[in-house]
Amino acid sequence: MKDRIILHIDANNFYASVECSLNPNLKDKAVAVSGNPLIRNGIILAKNQIAKKMGVKTGDAIWQAKEKCPDLVCLPPNMKLYLEYSKQLKNIYKKYTHLVEPFGIDECWIDITQTAHLFGGAEKIANDIRQEVKDKLKITVSIGISFCKLFAKLGSDLKKPDAVTIIPKENFREMIYPLPITAIIGIGGRMEKKLNKLNVFTLGDFVEIPGYILNQKFSIVFKELRKKLLGFDCSPVASSLVVDIPKSVGNGTTTIRDIFSQSEITSTVLFLSDKICGRLREQNLLANCISVSIKDCNLQSEHHSRVIPFATNCTADMVKFVMQLINSFWKYNEKIRAIRISARNLSTDQETQLSFFQPIQDKKNSLNQTLDYLRKKYGKQIIQSANLLATPFLRENFFDCGE
Ligand SMILES: [Mg+2]
Repeated sequence: MKDRIILHIDANNFYASVECSLNPNLKDKAVAVSGNPLIRNGIILAKNQIAKKMGVKTGDAIWQAKEKCPDLVCLPPNMKLYLEYSKQLKNIYKKYTHLVEPFGIDECWIDITQTAHLFGGAEKIANDIRQEVKDKLKITVSIGISFCKLFAKLGSDLKKPDAVTIIPKENFREMIYPLPITAIIGIGGRMEKKLNKLNVFTLGDFVEIPGYILNQKFSIVFKELRKKLLGFDCSPVASSLVVDIPKSVGNGTTTIRDIFSQSEITSTVLFLSDKICGRLREQNLLANCISVSIKDCNLQSEHHSRVIPFATNCTADMVKFVMQLINSFWKYNEKIRAIRISARNLSTDQETQLSFFQPIQDKKNSLNQTLDYLRKKYGKQIIQSANLLATPFLRENFFDCGE
């Protein structure tokens, strides 16, 4: 089997770089993104190169950082902005392969084994990515190229900012083994001291630890790490085409007054199911299981869940299944203060097999699609079920929170 070609791409000083790219006035200043600067115990989350040179470290308290660098400009984090940049970075990488696996917000592995020859080889791709990121986003990345994920990641740390490092199979030992053990994520503090006691200071020392000592004193994770450091890291780069499916989608509401009757409960279930199923359809997801939590007026909660006969994102089906579940345990002898419903065991609508028990869904689906279309175009309130018109306990005051 031919060697893999993996790049690890790390955006340098990500949060601070994004801030500086958008505000040219910050270009020659020491800049840090920190917790709320008005709170004296906020900490530094990221800093630019100038602040770094002045000794500012991630994790410093703001007052500590300002002692080292009195002119430090501290900015509050803007996660929405960083997520947008993160997405744009990934879009650049995806031009070369669908195998793009994020690691945090500012790092990605990409596997270009099958595609490198189409774009002039690994080093050219790395330099093209580096240049495109600089031109388009005005930030820099450092890139490691190697035959496995671990060495590609170590490579992106070796030279930065704005650099490419190749760690070839022929001489990875010379490049990797002199590095301190703390070059590996997760080895620091107490673990470092423990290893130092065994005379282990570098990654080269680490691979020399005899197997029986590794077994006695360390977890299985270290055995795996040693194998990887010997050059046997086979972990694949995940595909960006595999959709990350959420664990559940749910909504709950505390009614303005306690509710009691079956019709009030049904209306509340309809109100919540409509929201949940709308969110499921938006993400092309289907629920295979439902759960219900009911909190009574004494704040006692009861929670039940059930696998449903067929996967669905249809509001009418959801209401039917949830009401069947509620009727199976609720005695209607207690006033209700809050209800929460969750759709669980989610699957994508492509991967879900049609169930033998599933009724023909065409009519319901086209109704749901029409509702979704109208709400998207004219707003969520444009159309709703007539059952919800006489529900002051829901309409006047509710709070709902999604999962
Ligand atoms: Mg970074």
